[in-house]
Amino acid sequence: MATKSRRSLLKAMTSSELSEIASKHGVKVPSGLKKSQLVEFVAENIPLSDEELRCVVDQFQCDKLIGKVRDASDYFLTKQVSISHFDGREALVRVGNYAIAISNLGKEGFSYRCDKRCSDWLYQVRAGRYPFCKHYAAAIAELNLSRAD
Ligand SMILES: [Zn+2]
Repeated sequence: MATKSRRSLLKAMTSSELSEIASKHGVKVPSGLKKSQLVEFVAENIPLSDEELRCVVDQFQCDKLIGKVRDASDYFLTKQVSISHFDGREALVRVGNYAIAISNLGKEGFSYRCDKRCSDWLYQVRAGRYPFCKHYAAAIAELNLSRAD
């Protein structure tokens, strides 16, 4: 992965997330950096291989979902989450009337797609963010529960 890819990986995070990841890995971030400078700085200074950096960013995004699981509690309470298919890598989950497709879970090339009626997902995609909607959080929580059984 070239430095350019490291940057695009980091660009998806907020400034405070970048600082948090940097300090977790012993990198002191100079104050007063703009977001683009921060991305540059972390990409060049964090003592992680490209692969490790990807894992750290993925893990961070997953951790953020835990907060979203709370938003999804209404689905759990009414038991509207069901797993249509799951082989450890690919998953199809229904959350209410929404269909969520997850590919390469926890692997490189990870992607997920929510139902086209999901306005939260569409909004996040348009805004160029990680398109995590509450349905995804509910799906992941259900998959984790089923794995724990
Ligand atoms: Zn959704």
